[in-house]
Amino acid sequence: MLHVDTTAVMGDRGTTDESGVVPAIHYSAVFAAADESAFARMSSTPRHPRNYTRYGNPVHERIMAIMAELEGTETALVTGSGMGAMTTTLLALLGAGDHVVAQTQHYMSTSRVLDTLLGKLGVKLTLVDATDPAAMAAALRENTRVIVMESPANPTLALTDIGAVTALARANGILTVADNTFATPLNQRPAELGVDVVVHSATKYLGGHHDLTGGVICTSHALAERIWLTHLSVGSVLSPMDAWLLLRGLRTLPLRMERVNANALALAQWLCDQAKVRDVVYPGLESHPQFALASQQMNGFGGVLTFRVRRGEAAAKRALSALRIPLIAASLGGVNSLAIHVATLWHGTLKDAASSERMPSDLIRYAVGIEHIDDLKRDLMNALRSA
Ligand SMILES: *Cc1c(COP(=O)(O)O)cnc(C)c1O
Repeated sequence: MLHVDTTAVMGDRGTTDESGVVPAIHYSAVFAAADESAFARMSSTPRHPRNYTRYGNPVHERIMAIMAELEGTETALVTGSGMGAMTTTLLALLGAGDHVVAQTQHYMSTSRVLDTLLGKLGVKLTLVDATDPAAMAAALRENTRVIVMESPANPTLALTDIGAVTALARANGILTVADNTFATPLNQRPAELGVDVVVHSATKYLGGHHDLTGGVICTSHALAERIWLTHLSVGSVLSPMDAWLLLRGLRTLPLRMERVNANALALAQWLCDQAKVRDVVYPGLESHPQFALASQQMNGFGGVLTFRVRRGEAAAKRALSALRIPLIAASLGGVNSLAIHVATLWHGTLKDAASSERMPSDLIRYAVGIEHIDDLKRDLMNALRSA
């Protein structure tokens, strides 16, 4: 088996019969058959990727090959966004009367799909504190079909014990879905821990350059067959250009993650010593309440960290405005560092006391890029002076 660095560069070789070292961007919504019998073959092949771009495009096939290999699943599907991947998966696996267990802490739009969209379709939902395995077990019902995980969770960086949840799910005949966006397959391989469907926002680390919107679903052949028809119906299509950019981004994913992991750990450790800062949260810090779990199920801790600014909300916002390297932007996972005031982004979703406590008004989320660590530290030191 190849190392991930090599897979990222050549794991797609042979998937299409092109001779270019760099594959072409197939800007075609539809593909022609050589003759009528070839058309008949194409039409009768389930999941044939070559007849229509909503079904597939040659560059999609390359991404699917690399992502399945990186995540250690039999196959993969590509979608037009991370939400496309998550929504398609949940719509495929759940129906009216089914029960789904998910986390109190999820990416904002995932929470909305779970409680609003699925609720409207008659799917019952229980949200649990995923840091408590006993709560997960207690939430299961006779009609529980799916457990949804996200670890580390956005933006609190709370972890879910993935192996414990999959063991519980398997013992009860329940499918598991894990959002692996924050970790990437370089830092965490949920399928190895027993997860049935691994979903990604490729908009983040996989693409890696803040220039595309995409998603990936990594799973078994059997589940991909189930998800496939919903995928065609939902129509969350990755455009040929975005697919090409994503393939290009994947080539350097292992290199970028090495830098991102190192930068974030160094910055988190440095922040712990800054007088104007408190409560630095990063799964790679020994002070993280789940550091033992992080060390056990992750190979690296990713690029996102959070911290509080001692003098409160106004000081936090002053520090943010004084940053010169990170841009003030909501996303993460690309070459640029990005930072945000968490409560502003999550505004309107902090309905209960528990979520306000998790996201206090002086909390900053810093998503580290691939810049030089010394520059990032100096910039942050200067910015904290304004706090
Ligand atoms: C960004 C993100 C998503 C949604 O992805 P899009 O590509 O923006 O649709 C889902 N989950 C997590 C953890 C994310 O960070």
